[in-house]
Amino acid sequence: MKILNHPLFIIAIVVCIIAEYFYSKKKGISNFAFPETVTSIALISIDKILGLLTGSDGGPMVKWLWAHRFFDLPLEKPWTLVATFIAAEFLYYWNHWYNHHVNIGWATHIMHHSPTRYNLTLGYRLGITRLFSLGWLIFLPLILFGFRPEDIAQCIGIIFLYQFFIHTELVPKLGWLDLFFNTPSAHRVHHSGNPHEYNKNLGGLTLVFDHLFGTFGRESEEGIKRYGIARVMKKKSLWFEITAHWRVVIHRFLHANTIKGKCLALFGRPAKL
Ligand SMILES: [Zn+2]
Repeated sequence: MKILNHPLFIIAIVVCIIAEYFYSKKKGISNFAFPETVTSIALISIDKILGLLTGSDGGPMVKWLWAHRFFDLPLEKPWTLVATFIAAEFLYYWNHWYNHHVNIGWATHIMHHSPTRYNLTLGYRLGITRLFSLGWLIFLPLILFGFRPEDIAQCIGIIFLYQFFIHTELVPKLGWLDLFFNTPSAHRVHHSGNPHEYNKNLGGLTLVFDHLFGTFGRESEEGIKRYGIARVMKKKSLWFEITAHWRVVIHRFLHANTIKGKCLALFGRPAKL
């Protein structure tokens, strides 16, 4: 979705973050920490620069898959777009599950979960090493099944656009909406520092697949006491945040003596979960 890298859109998200900061301050909510905010802005900036430099059309691999698709869906029919969105939401769930349960996925996604304060800056702090985490492979079969790459990119873009706005403490619980949609309350559970909670609510726009696959969680009456990952990062430097779990992965890979051990270093369940 090209709008996510458009300069005007980037200015709009910066304005939203500044507005959230001042409104939180006025309400006495301590949801910003200076070093974390600087790291988040640096990570978002690197991500956006990479996005502008590399584009988002997926390159020759996407073109090859589209040319070799198994089916020709009626792309002009509205239900095809609805089906594309449902398929994208389903695979977004599994992509997010992969990021939490597979070592190389977590190596990138940890950058999104490490902050101990919950605010809009987390929305696009997505982890700049995701090319190496391979989670994007999960979406590619959709192209073989005849879903148009541009439509898939639009649907995933809508999910990421929506997700920016749910990273806030300023929106309270929303009643029954918290049961079915990935609301700010539902997503606060996902950013809790409690490992039993941060593997919950993995959906994009909705929590339908969380209900189906047993990963739904509801925010308690007291709210979230602590945000961030279980092993809170001690150093708050940009380089440390980018490489923290990759170093664990590489160390395990190099010290594994068997092929199975090397595969587990890359694709096994992350420790500390
Ligand atoms: Zn996550």
